[in-house]
Amino acid sequence: MEVSAIDVHVHLCDELTLSSKGDRPKQMARYFGRERKPVPMDEMAAQYQARKMMAVLMNTTDITVTGLTPVPNEHIAGYVRAYPDIFLGFGVIDPWQGKVALEEIKRIKDLGLHGIGELNPARQHFFPNDTRFYPLWEEVQKQGLPILFHSGMAAAGAGTPGGMGTKLKYTQPIHLDDVAADLPELKIISAHPSWPWGSESLAIARHKSNFYIDLSGWAPKYFSPELVQYVSTIIQDKAMFGSDWPSMGVERWLEEFAQINIKPEVRQKIMLDNAKKFFGLSF
Ligand SMILES: [Zn+2]
Repeated sequence: MEVSAIDVHVHLCDELTLSSKGDRPKQMARYFGRERKPVPMDEMAAQYQARKMMAVLMNTTDITVTGLTPVPNEHIAGYVRAYPDIFLGFGVIDPWQGKVALEEIKRIKDLGLHGIGELNPARQHFFPNDTRFYPLWEEVQKQGLPILFHSGMAAAGAGTPGGMGTKLKYTQPIHLDDVAADLPELKIISAHPSWPWGSESLAIARHKSNFYIDLSGWAPKYFSPELVQYVSTIIQDKAMFGSDWPSMGVERWLEEFAQINIKPEVRQKIMLDNAKKFFGLSF
């Protein structure tokens, strides 16, 4: 398969994963005005193959906050093994689990997964630059894995009283700047355009060579002029295509992104080349 793009931010939406998330799939369906139906992984693989795209699969966990046990990281690893030409996969940890999380990072590497994430500080209630968590980030760095943090506004809990306990203060990208500075060999992806702190993630991406952004979870037709300007120019090597499916439809993202005025060579970097380099893929 000739790969035309890499979607660096894709969630599982199979039966097993949906059933592990308590009330949140229902809330997300209400928020996005779209029912969240389970999609078997084989079907997803076929969809990405038809698009000639690879996808980076990820899950989330907030077990120490909600008590919900996530599907084990083996679940994603199994799909990555089954479809090595289509899927890369990340493994998930809850940073409050301390030693358990530390061991899980090593296990994620052993499972053949390609990174850690999605960490979701809003749901997991932690500041990434809290040095109590640095042993974890150091281990991730030691294992040579990248790490992806949710940044900015969260769809999780949106539109409910109290946002289902989700706290946005933890998702400000500037907290990741400390981590990028203190662990210069750790490759960080700040997920999403980080609204309402988009300028922060653009500045950090410009400033720290180990800090990247993905453009997932946000309809491209609502990208700010500032975001479009910077990904077209000074951070064109640091921004990567991601959909955040099932929150955002992949086709919708692609159609709207096609309408944005970006030079073809920059578009190629965002859709494919930057991620290819980031994950060290050769094809
Ligand atoms: Zn996210």
